[in-house]
Amino acid sequence: MVKMSKSQKTRYFRLVEMQPTMTNFSAAVLIISKSSPNLFLDKLSGSERGVITLTVRDSISHITNCKCWGQKSFVDKYNAMLHIGDVVDIVGAKVMSLSTPGEPRYQPQATLSCTLTVNEGHGHIVRHDSDDLPTIETLQQLIHKPHKPLGSTLNLVEACLGIGLHERNLNAYVDLLVVVAAVRPVRELKRKLSQSYKKDNGPLQCLELIVMDASCPNGILLSLWHAEWIRRAKHWQPRKTVLHLIDVRISYSDYYRCPVLNHANCTLLYEDPQAAGGDCDALLSFAASVLPMSFDQSDQSDLADLPTACQIQTKMTTKQIYSRAEGELSNAATDRFTAVLYCMVSKFDIDGYSMNTSKKCTTCQNLVPRNQSDCVREECQLLFSLESNGPRHSSFININIQLSDQTGTLVESRLSGHVAERVMGIKASDFQRLSEGAKIELKWRFLLKYFEVKLLIKKQSAMRKNIVVLVVDMQAIPLNKMIDTFSVF
Ligand SMILES: [Zn+2]
Repeated sequence: MVKMSKSQKTRYFRLVEMQPTMTNFSAAVLIISKSSPNLFLDKLSGSERGVITLTVRDSISHITNCKCWGQKSFVDKYNAMLHIGDVVDIVGAKVMSLSTPGEPRYQPQATLSCTLTVNEGHGHIVRHDSDDLPTIETLQQLIHKPHKPLGSTLNLVEACLGIGLHERNLNAYVDLLVVVAAVRPVRELKRKLSQSYKKDNGPLQCLELIVMDASCPNGILLSLWHAEWIRRAKHWQPRKTVLHLIDVRISYSDYYRCPVLNHANCTLLYEDPQAAGGDCDALLSFAASVLPMSFDQSDQSDLADLPTACQIQTKMTTKQIYSRAEGELSNAATDRFTAVLYCMVSKFDIDGYSMNTSKKCTTCQNLVPRNQSDCVREECQLLFSLESNGPRHSSFININIQLSDQTGTLVESRLSGHVAERVMGIKASDFQRLSEGAKIELKWRFLLKYFEVKLLIKKQSAMRKNIVVLVVDMQAIPLNKMIDTFSVF
C-alpha cells in the first residue's frame, strides 16, 4: 500500500516498515484505541502540556501506539477530533524503538518493535482523504478483526482462579471473550484532591456493566473509565454484544467482595469480533439461553430458590448476621447464608402511605418498576403484542420489616410473596383491598411482638449494592422464650 499523497510529496509507509532511524514517517491507519489526555504543568515554561496516545493499525496482525505531545490546546484539539474507528494519516512522525518489550502497562501492548511520536510542530494527524474509499474501507474493516486469536482467551472462571479468592493485592491482566449481560447507568465520581489542578476535566465518569460467558452465567463486573469507551458502550446490547477484551485488569474488590474487571490504560477491546472459528456464535447462543439480568431489583423479591424453613437451623443475633454478611466473619466463597433470629418486630408499616405490594411480569417473573405499567423487555413486549388479552403483571405482597434483638436491628428484611401470604394468612389480592382499620389490626399482630424468624441473607455482590434479607418463615413466640435466647449468646 505504498502510495503518494495528493501533494505527491509525502511518501506513505506500512507500519511494519518502521525503522528506529526514521524521523519523517507517514502512514494511513485505523485508530482502535485512544487514551484520555494526560496533562501536566511544564515547570520550564509555566504552561500546561500534555500527551494523548492513539493505538493504531493498518494490517490484521500488527498494532502500535502513536503518542501526540504538545500544548494543552493541541492535545485537547486532537482529543476532540480523533475517535476510535477513524481512518487517519499520521504525517511526519518520529519512529521510536520500544526499549523493553514487556514494559509497564501504561498503554496497549504493541506487536511491533517500534512506536510513533508526533510532537506539536513536527508532524501531525489529519483525517484520511475521504475520496480514497478503497483505503478507508479496507482499514475500517479491521475494527472488528482482533489481532490476537480468540482461542487464546481464558474463560471467566479460569481468570478468577488465577487471582485466587483472597489475593487482595494482586492484579492480573487477561484476555477474555465475553458477552454483555447488563449495563448500569453512567455514574459520576468526584476526583481525588491530588488531581484537582486538572480543573476543567470535570467529574470522572464510570460505566459498570456485567459481562458473562458459559463458565460464569452469573457474570462479573466490568468498569469502564474512558470517555471514549463509555460513549461507544451506549450502543452495546445485553445478551447481543460480544467483547474481546485484551489485557483487561482482574483484581479482587474489597467493596464487592469478589473479583472484578477494570478497563485499564493497557486494555484493548474489540466489539463484536469477526474471527474464524465458532467462539462468538457459541457465546451468543449461550447468551440467548439465559434469562435477562438486571441490577439490584430482581433479587429483592426473588423467592424462586428459597431453602425450606426446616433447613434453616443456625441461630444468630442481628450483629452476627451483619458481621457474616459484610464484616469480619464474611466468607467470600459463598454469596448467601441462612439464620434463625429471635427478635421483636420493630417496624411493620402496612397502614398509611407506604407501598406494600409490587408488580411482577407474568412472562419473565421480573419486578416491574413502580413507574412503569408493564415489563419493558423486548421479549415480553413481543409476547404481549401476540397474546393481547392476558394479564401482563401480577401483584405480590412486598413489605419491609425490621427485626430487633439485644444486639441491634436488621433493617433490610423483606416479607414477600407466598411467604407473606402464609405468615399473614391473606392473599395478595385481598391484602390490597383491606380497609385502613383492618390493616391497623393486622399490623398490631406483628409490631412489637416476639418472633422466631428464619432468614435467607444474600450478600453484596457485583449485581447487588446492598445485602438482601428474605423472610423464609416466622412464628410468634412468648416473651419467656425470647428471654431464654439471651443466655444463648
Ligand atoms: Zn417481562
